Amino acid sequence: MSNLMNTYLRLPVTFTKGEGVWLWDEGGKRYLDALAGVAVCGLGHCHPKLVRAICNQAGTLIHTSNLYHIGKQEKLASRLAALSGMDNAFFCNSGAEANEAAIKLARLYGHGKNIDLPTIIVMEKSFHGRTMATLTASGNRKVQAGFEPLLTGFARVPYNDLEAVSQVAVHNKNVVAILVEPYQGEGGVNVPEANYLQGLRHLCDQNGWLLMLDEVQCGIGRSGKWFAFQHSGIVPDVITLAKGLGSGVPIGACLAKGIAADVFKPGNHASTFGGNPLACTAALTTLEVIEEEDLLRNALELGDFMRMMFKAQLAGLPDINQIRGQGLMIGIELSRPCGDLVREALRQGLLINVTSDRVVRLLPPLVMQRSEAEQVVNMLSALIRKFLLA
Ligand SMILES: *Cc1c(COP(=O)(O)O)cnc(C)c1O
Repeated sequence: MSNLMNTYLRLPVTFTKGEGVWLWDEGGKRYLDALAGVAVCGLGHCHPKLVRAICNQAGTLIHTSNLYHIGKQEKLASRLAALSGMDNAFFCNSGAEANEAAIKLARLYGHGKNIDLPTIIVMEKSFHGRTMATLTASGNRKVQAGFEPLLTGFARVPYNDLEAVSQVAVHNKNVVAILVEPYQGEGGVNVPEANYLQGLRHLCDQNGWLLMLDEVQCGIGRSGKWFAFQHSGIVPDVITLAKGLGSGVPIGACLAKGIAADVFKPGNHASTFGGNPLACTAALTTLEVIEEEDLLRNALELGDFMRMMFKAQLAGLPDINQIRGQGLMIGIELSRPCGDLVREALRQGLLINVTSDRVVRLLPPLVMQRSEAEQVVNMLSALIRKFLLA
């Protein structure tokens, strides 16, 4: 234990086995997983088709190098392009790296237009990762404090505020792109106003900026569509993905369309591991299973069902501010800090998360069934009731 750097405050449990929406600890105790490794294990744990595909690929070819062609990588790029409407993909290993690629792409795009100090508009309460560029882009002082000097080249505005973005357009001629989560995850499961993304698209079109969507958490079926932007009718220029893409095998992607798809040239960007045969097999199989098992529809319907059930069961409690989300991204905002709920839920065999101090966040596996969802809602509602009335 103590040979690990002290970067996490870990809960007192070690899981040794998983199946579907269930996990087991060393003592054999069973847990209902409503967090899915923070939106990673969309297919649940150890989905048989995924396990088979990974084992087969591991016995055939695990890694070569991006110095050579990689068949599975080209296939995955083509599949993601078809699903998203984007033209091409760069593969890496995490969400932060996907956003780094997007940030570099936007800067290169700006320099191509003779903008020497390209600036990216980012949002308050956003989260984009822990590398220097992505923590600078994040709208949370906690991830930045102590790591100064931060990067230059970012302008921050409130989320859900089109007027603030227009104001930046008036005063700052160096803007080259907007980077935004269509639904904010770490920032508290924040849902945009109707027409927010359309408004951002319009401002980007007017000003020649790239619209770059961080779908690391809300993408790959979580919102009830393949990509969260597909609820809005717009098409972005850049999309970043990671979490749910490989079902736990690390893989990230930066997708681009049109003018943004032609920005990188050989030598501009690279990754040793990015898009290797093993990771791409995991991602291809994830996409296949989501389609075969109709998981987009399940995420959409089950999410609505759970929010409805929570509203019914938590009705009348004074300290519930809002129950919100889209698909299987669910946030219950209380009016006071509620981090203690996580430990209490764990004790009772339920895995949940609290983000932004007072938002209970659920990111259940996309394969969760109605009966399991009912268990989650019943257990958690009772816990919240007890917590608030204590
Ligand atoms: C988790 C997350 C990231 C960072 O992903 P890592 O794989 O941890 O680097 C970036 N953006 C969003 C929206 C995320 O939820």
